[in-house]
Amino acid sequence: MKINIIGGGPAGMYFAILMKQADAAHDITIYERNGPDDTFGWGVVFSGKTLANLRDADAISHAEITREFEAWDNVDVVQGHDKISIHGNSFSGIARIRLLKILRARCERLGIRIHFRSEVGDIDALKRESDLLIGADGVNSSVRQRYADHFQPNLSARPNKYIWYGTNQLFHGLTLTFRENDAGVFAAHSYKFNQTTSTFIIECDPETWSRGGFAEMSDGDTRECLEQVFAEDLHGHELLSNNSKWINFALVKNAHWQFENVVLLGDALHTAHFSIGSGTKLAMEDAIALKQCFDRASSVSAALAQFEEVRKPVIEDYQAAAYESMLWFENGRAYMRITPIELAYALMTRSGRVDRETLIRRDPAFIAAYERQPRASS
Ligand SMILES: Cc1cc2nc3c(=O)[nH]c(=O)nc-3n(C[C@H](O)[C@H](O)[C@H](O)COP(=O)(O)OP(=O)(O)OC[C@H]3O[C@@H](n4cnc5c(N)ncnc54)[C@H](O)[C@@H]3O)c2cc1C
Repeated sequence: MKINIIGGGPAGMYFAILMKQADAAHDITIYERNGPDDTFGWGVVFSGKTLANLRDADAISHAEITREFEAWDNVDVVQGHDKISIHGNSFSGIARIRLLKILRARCERLGIRIHFRSEVGDIDALKRESDLLIGADGVNSSVRQRYADHFQPNLSARPNKYIWYGTNQLFHGLTLTFRENDAGVFAAHSYKFNQTTSTFIIECDPETWSRGGFAEMSDGDTRECLEQVFAEDLHGHELLSNNSKWINFALVKNAHWQFENVVLLGDALHTAHFSIGSGTKLAMEDAIALKQCFDRASSVSAALAQFEEVRKPVIEDYQAAAYESMLWFENGRAYMRITPIELAYALMTRSGRVDRETLIRRDPAFIAAYERQPRASS
């Protein structure tokens, strides 16, 4: 089968690996607009369950990915001088650039062609010469836009502003930190992803952002201001920028996922708020699901129809939980007057996927402490 893939991110490369591994006769080409060493972002995070899926799908890349991993089991919630740790959560982090390099090396060894610095302009022409065309071209997907009449995308920009930094301060666990200044409330989502660096995403509501004067601030002044907001947490370490800019989270959905021999994967197809887990996990699990449909189906159109049928409910469920989590952070200011342990409980249960029973299993000491505490709200 002649497979052309637009986008050399995790979704595109991982799908190529899985298909080529299943049948070396597939002729697979990836077109990537960036160079091999260009990347944005810092670390990506996977749950224990996702790692098991990656191991079952491709043991070789799984071994390389896990060799580089930083693993932890705690979520830390920090507010004022208090830090509440909740254990029993299994997560790991790796630098996005390392992940992409591992996947690229695996593609090359399998004989998959990757054309870097290759922007696909004429999508129709590529579609005509493909048995299967994959739109793995990220959140601003041109493939989705080209066939928008068929995919019927639903795109919305959320009100909160966020900015993706790194730092050499190491956060040993998924750390959610809340700080206030005259402008309002800022939340940081941070975790270490190698032995020297952590991801540090800062989020605030639009009122805080306007009062903070960030619209007129240079990149350097923005970092300096946010370093002051999180001075107690950064311990003198700088915020590291990788062309970091304030953005609004873009929620992407598509009514239809496939059109003739074209299918979308990863961020092109759907996004889920970063507070619930990374888009990288969903992108790679999409690739696994689509490859499994090709194992079972006898034609491209049957495989794509099956992919939409099997994977869409999973993604809708995930997006629903991510939506609740996103709303929680959009209304974060409302939670600043409860006690730290109440805040921690509210955070752990925000998506509706984790309840008291789950927390009793994961960390009975946390629930015991929570239930012993007098409530600010009672
Ligand atoms: C600013 C920012 C920072 C982020 N940082 C992190 C992070 O630190 N950790 C994390 O887990 N997630 C991060 N994410 C989210 C994460 O990148 C995605 O959820 C994940 O990478 C989805 O994988 P994907 O393969 O679907 O898309 P992507 O990784 O976005 O890959 C799509 C690829 O397609 C290429 N492309 C697009 N159009 C064309 C074209 N016409 N021709 C050729 N190539 C094209 C792009 O260059 C890109 O490499 C970040 C997102 C943003 C916007």
